Amino acid sequence: MVKDKKDELIQLRKRLAKRMPDPSTALAGSLMSRMIHCNKPGCRYCEKGKKGKRGKGHGPICILSVSAGNRRVRQIPIPSHLKQDVQEGLHRFAEIQKLLKQVSRVNLDLLEERKKR
Ligand SMILES: [Zn+2]
Repeated sequence: MVKDKKDELIQLRKRLAKRMPDPSTALAGSLMSRMIHCNKPGCRYCEKGKKGKRGKGHGPICILSVSAGNRRVRQIPIPSHLKQDVQEGLHRFAEIQKLLKQVSRVNLDLLEERKKR
């Protein structure tokens, strides 16, 4: 019976691997939208008001936040005509990551089965 369980897991990981989408567009990071301040003197969007409060700034603009290692984050402004491509890339990355985690879980189970013999 132990062998059946192994075969089952091997079939399962094959099915998962076949569902793996094309990784060529994968993009890691997260997309956010926020206001930016240009800090140009006299800018009517950014200049401080009478109460010393900063103006509302420009935007909102789209920012791609990417981990650059060592806890550093790169923030890349994304023009609106590229936003959809970026979103698709992020989605693709997440999809692949999710499938990889599933494959890894199956392989862990398989490892446990192999230890039993
Ligand atoms: Zn400004």
